[in-house]
Amino acid sequence: MSDPTDPIDPTDPIDLLRQQVSDLHQELVRYDLVVWTAGNVSARVPGEDLMVIKPSGVPYDELSPESMILCDLDGNVVEGDYAPSSDTAAHAYVYRHMPEVGGVVHTHSTYACAWAARGEAVPCVLTAMADEFGAEIPVGPFALIGDDSIGRGIVETLRGHRSPAVLMKSHGVFTIGKDARAAVKAAVMCEDVARTVHVSRQLGEPLPIAQADIDRLNLRYQNVYGQQPAR
Ligand SMILES: [Zn+2]
Repeated sequence: MSDPTDPIDPTDPIDLLRQQVSDLHQELVRYDLVVWTAGNVSARVPGEDLMVIKPSGVPYDELSPESMILCDLDGNVVEGDYAPSSDTAAHAYVYRHMPEVGGVVHTHSTYACAWAARGEAVPCVLTAMADEFGAEIPVGPFALIGDDSIGRGIVETLRGHRSPAVLMKSHGVFTIGKDARAAVKAAVMCEDVARTVHVSRQLGEPLPIAQADIDRLNLRYQNVYGQQPAR
């Protein structure tokens, strides 16, 4: 197993994941989803009961692959020089209860939080939203940090829901994905549609999209869109 003080070993899958998770944190900065040290990305180590997550309270421009923390899925540190993110228990709970999830992201991005502060789901009124979310972006329960209640709220809201994003009431966004990159994409798209639907609301009531059309758009985007592997 790698020593976090050693340089990244490109043949070590955990080192590669440290690099990926460190790089993905810069995407949160690039897309303006975080301020100060808020927000975090984690990735499940494939095939192991382990995850890589951001250290707590370290500024974004000081994050590095070496500073990422390796934890077990109870949130205990396995390797790392810092304490893990204060949201580690929530990430760990999601990985324990949703085996299909390979990445989790948390942000307090502005527009999504404005919906969360009202406890209001973002309605599915744009085709891009039908593509990525396939439904409204739902609201999860109000939950305080410190035990499993945030993780439980995420899992209870997203299990069986098409949306990879949940607005935790009066708090912020959690997103899930097959890997950490997909979860970051969902966080970026969540803020984008929360902003656009908010702006639309200033001018009137956005028009609903028929459920059958949402279903069709989502099916196509999730299965056909993008570059298909060469035959
Ligand atoms: Zn938070």
